[in-house]
Amino acid sequence: MKKQKRPLKETYKLNKTKEILQIEKNEGAEVSPSEPNTHKLIQELKVYQIELEMQNEELKLAKEKEEVAKKKYIELYDFAPSGYLTLSNKGKIIDLNISTENLLGKNRTSLINSSFGFFVSSDARTVYNNFLQDVFSTNLKQACELKLAGGDDSMRYVLVNGITSNVEEKCMLTLVDITKLKFTEDELIKAREKAEEANRLKSAFLANMSHEIRTPMNGILGFSELLKTLTLTGEKQREFIDIIQKSGVRMLNIINDIISISKIDSQQIEVLVSNTNINEQVEYIYHFFKLEAEQKKLDISFKNGLNSDNELIRTDREKIYALLTNLVKNAIKFTKTGSIEFGYEKKGDFLEFYVKDTGPGIRDEYKEIIFERFRQGNELLSREYEGSGLGLAISKAYVEMLGGKIWVKSKLGQGSTFRFTIPYHKCNKKKELIQTVSEEKIRPNKKWKILIVDDDEPSRILLNMMIKPLEGKIFQATSGHEAIKVCRHNPGINLVLMDIRMKTMDGYEATRQIRKFNKEVVIIAQTAFALPDDREMAIQAGCNSYISKPTNRMDLMDLIHQYLR
Ligand code: ADP
Repeated sequence: MKKQKRPLKETYKLNKTKEILQIEKNEGAEVSPSEPNTHKLIQELKVYQIELEMQNEELKLAKEKEEVAKKKYIELYDFAPSGYLTLSNKGKIIDLNISTENLLGKNRTSLINSSFGFFVSSDARTVYNNFLQDVFSTNLKQACELKLAGGDDSMRYVLVNGITSNVEEKCMLTLVDITKLKFTEDELIKAREKAEEANRLKSAFLANMSHEIRTPMNGILGFSELLKTLTLTGEKQREFIDIIQKSGVRMLNIINDIISISKIDSQQIEVLVSNTNINEQVEYIYHFFKLEAEQKKLDISFKNGLNSDNELIRTDREKIYALLTNLVKNAIKFTKTGSIEFGYEKKGDFLEFYVKDTGPGIRDEYKEIIFERFRQGNELLSREYEGSGLGLAISKAYVEMLGGKIWVKSKLGQGSTFRFTIPYHKCNKKKELIQTVSEEKIRPNKKWKILIVDDDEPSRILLNMMIKPLEGKIFQATSGHEAIKVCRHNPGINLVLMDIRMKTMDGYEATRQIRKFNKEVVIIAQTAFALPDDREMAIQAGCNSYISKPTNRMDLMDLIHQYLR
């Protein structure tokens, strides 16, 4: 069996008794048996002495234990990750640990006796005062969140728990730094708000789109139905057809905008730089919108900022065209009376374009958001002007792709001036032939041979009707293969109107094949995609030019004239 260890105290007693017996043995001779009382007294004294020594030893041990415990407590208190703070009932700091020192950004000595409320940021004072009041009046644990304005100007958020001490009029607080948590929470709230906003915009967009698409559809379907009425006068018929046409144009604009914005989103739009005669672009826009502006009795004018020696620049022509079209179209749309002026001037390394109108102007709070997608200056249901709210968002994306900026200056009731910049890269090459509007009338000619290639019958009929006044011979093909065959058998064909999207062989491939045996024939691509890079793709395949569907008769005639004169 294992021998049990004696407790420390008992061992000590035993050792001491042994020591005394030894003393007695050594001193025995000196004590006389005739003095029993004195001997007894000495014995008792010795016992007392032993007990005293024992007590002393115990005290020493207890003190050592206490020192260890105190050290442990100080370590725990000071180095605790949470702040500990003792406050008087007046809110004065009585004691604190290192974490609290760090939170308040000051050392312990300077903090003792100062008011803790001094460190609470002013907007959190009421919360703090109520918290202290609850702590001292209830004897229950209380909690609150406080914003602290640290000595080093930094803001900290703390979660505070507090309770009164039963002994004195003081309370103990724990402080947990929740600054990071608070910022994460703020970010989460912002992200949620953004998601909710995006969702709201999406719904608004859908409602808007639905309205924008249904309105022209209503015009197209309703008036085509009415056209079937047999008793209509010629004038009424023309009026209805006009409405159908306008509704169709409106619908096309919306579809183009949606396509452009989805292309921007999926980063499918590239910057295609070419030599561009900037003055001709501005003039082209002027001629394009002149009639529309005059129909609204608006004065329209333009100003070019470069002379003919410097007008040729390197830029993306289609994007400049789209930008000016968008801004001038808006200016005409929103202006009821007065004038529209547009143009550009050279400012340093940039060309700064402007479109100025005398329209209703834009409220300050809308000047930024109108450039966001689907956002309009007036998002109320009763808004007066049609539109998808995409035009300026597309314009902004284009300008940024070109390396410029777009902004608006406007005062409500005093018109608006939209401005955008693009880098000015002068082109030193000779002038290129740039397509302009032909003033000359197209003369019919029986010798012309024109091939229409399209797999869609209504499109073939439409083109047939459009080019009939030219009086030439018209051939038709319903596929790429057939087009190649017709061209082979009729080398005299002057012009091919080539549809691009066709089954089995598309228009690009058919053009490439035709070019292998006929380099002279003029091929004009016609596509329904209507995207800026369509033109480039058509040219690369060997087409001379490009026209987008739905085909505008005047544009088609201009193109034909340009190539067949
Ligand atoms: P949409 O014209 O289809 O509404 P835009 O993105 O082109 O979309 O324009 C956004 C908004 O900016 C318009 O709805 C309108 O409130 C405001 N805006 C644009 N151009 C003008 C202008 N010239 N005058 C007044 N407001 C304009």
